Amino acid sequence: MAFVILLSFDGYGQTAKSTLDGKKVLLVYGGWDGHQPKIKSDIMSQWLIQEKAEVIVSNSTEIYADSNVMYNIDLVIQIITMSEIKENEIKGLLDGIKSGIGFAGFHGGMGDSFRSNTQYQYMVGGQFVSHPGGQLNYKVHIIDKQHPITKGMKDYSVHTEQYYMHVDPNNTVLATTVFKSDAHQWIQGAVIPVVWIKYFGKGRVFYSSLGHAPKDIMQPESWEILTRGIRWAAESKFIEHQNLLNPIYEY
Ligand SMILES: [Zn+2]
Repeated sequence: MAFVILLSFDGYGQTAKSTLDGKKVLLVYGGWDGHQPKIKSDIMSQWLIQEKAEVIVSNSTEIYADSNVMYNIDLVIQIITMSEIKENEIKGLLDGIKSGIGFAGFHGGMGDSFRSNTQYQYMVGGQFVSHPGGQLNYKVHIIDKQHPITKGMKDYSVHTEQYYMHVDPNNTVLATTVFKSDAHQWIQGAVIPVVWIKYFGKGRVFYSSLGHAPKDIMQPESWEILTRGIRWAAESKFIEHQNLLNPIYEY
């Protein structure tokens, strides 16, 4: 099933030269079944293989504590909603990212993992807290039209969960959404990031809140942002560190 769906995306992969060729990517999935982590992992791994990346797939965070693996990879893609992580595992992951491994993900698989772990949230730059109204129509606004991840893209509409997130005010935000909630009147007009990037140590971090169901990942515009973001995050070890701190508050 996933394979058949993937075929329709072949065209997208060919629009840009694959920068993932030869990159070593660790894909880790698990957590809450409602987010279909195995199906999403299969979609991602098949695309990564098409991109000629070397892919290691694991269904356990235990692999983050394996220094032989972590020493050798360029990127982690994580698809784990909620669940928990052990101290030696989070240490392995965060030390790896600090040393230059990129970290990329979407929706709850990255933005709602290991809820009680503040060290993890510090690295991600945000945490899901609510999706008022459940599945609804809303717009994704592209606010940075220069960055390679969103260059040339226009605002577009989706029908899915609208993630209200608590975010690090120093993230570099590429896309946002406005809440028009009837259910939660007091947040009408609230603007919340949908796509952001940042560094954690030397590692590039990319997040998109789009991707509740497999169809949401594969909506062409969201897929384009996600795959460009993954390519960008995989470059930490190969492209000089840039300052991405983008404070929104004055002092
Ligand atoms: Zn969801």
